[in-house]
Formats: sequence, C-alpha cells, structure tokens
Amino acid sequence: MFEKILIANRGEIALRVQRACRELGIKTVAVHSEADRDAKYVKLADESVCIGPAPSAKSYLNVPAVISAAEVTDAQAIHPGYGFLSENADFAERVEQSGFVFIGPRAETIRLMGDKVSAKDAMKKAGVPCVPGSDGALPDDPAEIVKTAKRVGYPVIIKAAGGGGGRGMRVVHTEAALINAVNMTKAEAQSAFGNPVVYMEKFLENPRHIEIQILADEHGNAVFLGDRDCSMQRRHQKIIEEAPSPLLPARLRDKIGERCAEACRKIKYRGAGTFEFLYENGEFYFIEMNTRLQVEHTVTEMITGIDLVQQQIFIAAGEKLPFRQRDIVLNGHAIECRINAEDPYNFVPSPGFINRFHMPGGPGVRMDTHVYGGYTVPPHYDSMIGKLITHGATREQAIARMRVALSELYVEGIKTNKELHSDLMSDLAFQQGGTSIHYLEQKLGISAK
Ligand code: ADP
Repeated sequence: MFEKILIANRGEIALRVQRACRELGIKTVAVHSEADRDAKYVKLADESVCIGPAPSAKSYLNVPAVISAAEVTDAQAIHPGYGFLSENADFAERVEQSGFVFIGPRAETIRLMGDKVSAKDAMKKAGVPCVPGSDGALPDDPAEIVKTAKRVGYPVIIKAAGGGGGRGMRVVHTEAALINAVNMTKAEAQSAFGNPVVYMEKFLENPRHIEIQILADEHGNAVFLGDRDCSMQRRHQKIIEEAPSPLLPARLRDKIGERCAEACRKIKYRGAGTFEFLYENGEFYFIEMNTRLQVEHTVTEMITGIDLVQQQIFIAAGEKLPFRQRDIVLNGHAIECRINAEDPYNFVPSPGFINRFHMPGGPGVRMDTHVYGGYTVPPHYDSMIGKLITHGATREQAIARMRVALSELYVEGIKTNKELHSDLMSDLAFQQGGTSIHYLEQKLGISAK
C-alpha cells in the first residue's frame, strides 16, 4: 500500500480524498494555488506545495508543477479528483512516466473515452446500446450532414467529440438551421476543447439521465454499484442526484449494469468509472463514460456502504476487488444537493467571505464541504462549495431528511442555491420521481438550448 499520496485538486474533493487517505493511514500532500493557501484541508495535509497563482491554467492545470510537487515530497501516487487533470490522458501518462502511480484508468483508456466519438464506437462494439446518430464524426460535406440528419430524424443534437461539463452542444429542430448550427458548434469546440470534431445524435425529448457506477481491478474483475439518477439539471449540468433511480425496475438496472461491467472486462478498464445513459421509454442509450470519480459518487457510497475513494486507491495499488457482484447490496435511498455559491434564481456566482456557517446534522445526513465560517470563496473556480447528502430507508425519508437538513444549513455572507433545493424538495413532480432532464429548465421557465 502507498505511504503517501498527492491530491491534485482543491475544494471539497481534495478534502474528501484526504479523509479517505488519512483513514487508511496514508500520508497526504496537498497542492494548492496562491488563492487556496489558507484552506483548512491544506493545513490538515501532512505536507503542502504551492503550485502557482490563482488561475487554474497556472496552478491546478499546470502539469510540470504538479509532477515536481510529487517529486519533492516523495509521494508515490497521485489522485486527480474530478475536473482539472482527472481526464487528461497526457497527464496520466506523464505521471506514470515520472515513476508515480496515477489513481485512475490507464492513459490509453482515458484517451479512448475522452473522445466521445471513439467512446461510443468502443461501447457499441462492447454491446452497450447508444443514442442513434451519425455513427462517428460528422463529415465536412453539407449535403452529407443534411442526409444524416434526415436519417436520424429531427430534432437532433450536435455535440463536440472533445466536449465536457455540459458545454459544446446545440439542439437543431429544422433543416434550415442545421449547417449553421454545425459550423458554430465546430468553431466553439475548436476554441473550448482544441478539437473541432463534432457528431450528431437524435435529441431525446423526454429522457432521464441514469448512470451506472462501476469498479474494475487489474485482474479482470468488474462490478457495478447500482445506478444514479441525475435528471435534475440546468444547462446540462447536474444539480440534484439520487440513488437508486426512482421508478426504474431493478431488473432493467441489473441488466444494463451487467452490460457495463462486461464492457469494462472487455476493454480491460481499471479503476472507478461511470457509464452515463439517457433513459426513455424503458430503453437505455449510452452517451459517455467518465473515467474518474464523480461529484455524485457520495449517493452510491451511502446506499452501498462502500468507500469509492478507498477502492480507487486499493485498485491503483494493484489489489483485487474485495467483493463480487452478489456482495453488492443496495440499502435504502440517498439524495445529494449540490450547494453552489450563486444566486438561487438567476445563477450569478456569489463568491466572497462567509462570516457564519452552520452545518446540518442528524441521522442519515452527510455534508462534504471544505468551507466554514471565516472562509473566503475565491472567485476563480467552480461555484460548488459543498454537497449535502441524505440517506433514508425510503426515498420519502431521504427527501424529508433533506428538507430538514437544508433548513438547518446556514450560510451568511454569500448567496447559495439552498432555496432552490428547498423548493425542489417540495415539488410534486420531484416527489413522484422520474422527471426528465428538461424538467428543471421548464419549471424555471428557461427553454433548453
Ligand atoms: P458532458 O460530457 O458535457 O456532460 P454528455 O454527453 O454527458 O455531455 O451530456 C450531458 C447532458 O446533455 C445530458 O445529461 C443530457 O441532459 C444532455 N444531452 C446529451 N445528449 C443528449 C441527447 N442526445 N438528447 C437529449 N439530451 C442530451
């Protein structure tokens, strides 16, 4: 087992990974930007290294700085968290070439899955059902593009092969708007992701977002840890996640879960990963695979009792999975609300000084956050300041506990989206379960872009 792990991330996930390490008796190295120098988790780490100024491009995305921090501190492995360098295949490669263990899949797997066109292709070959579409990158010839859209059927969605974080997508309803939309998405994809390749999918009008968590070791074992529903989204970004998905027959979940585990065995996947699907009329359609820990891994932890970060570490150390599929038992229901420093209704970010902060508690309540009273939320990064998670024997109990927990959460000094979450916990459609990915935007009166 490793003696020392460097955590190449910030915020709540840096703290989450640190906790997993400390529990295992593994020493931790925090790397941080100048803006995060005084963060509590930086002080709690055994060692810390400043890797650059506040902008992520100069610190958290600065590969040579992260690698040299590992060198000077003698760390043996690097955990990338989510976001930043976590799905950067070149980084994973550099880490391993420099003699450290990358806590995640092999670089070639990250590369394969990081390009959504090659990912879909690989999944199709592995027997995973995909959203119908262009079967590969869109060609340059406008006549061909028009033909493809006709075959797929309007509305269609144009997506960047290198896209992520809900960006680089455009819905097209008519042939008249098609070519212009393709060209605009290409130009955006080039500037945002450095890759102009786009592809086309049927735009599903009423799907839910359901994903499967998997764990796979180097010895050919792979299991799935149930499913999560992440349909409550705004601008293709998740706001609330839960496990298991409400109103999804266990038989269907187990069938798709087994397909995912089998796909992992086929592509020799290593580590934790998530298969994301759109689910409509009883059918699953693969959209992408995330080759890292996800923000919403917590709800899976709550219903399985398995620490996903520790499993990632064990797998990276070459150990065999300590359980088989039949050992994975789903217990009760868990919900996560992403707490963002932003206006609850116009979503304008609200960084700044938090003068008071009260954390909720009680049975079945977990809050993963790095903030506290006296902490300043820097303006340079993502607006998520924490995740509030509740667990109950039933979905109703998890919702009731979330309602109470949200009422106890008190943040003074900055705005948060707590009120939006409270509204949603009392929303009838949410309570019934099974709302589509468009529900929140429809409720907020925003049309899908
Ligand atoms: P990203 O990597 O940016 O998260 P995804 O491919 O995972 O992109 O899609 C993110 C979200 O965009 C989905 O959860 C869904 O809300 C929406 N979306 C993606 N593809 C489609 C589609 N074919 N039809 C309808 N919505 C889609």
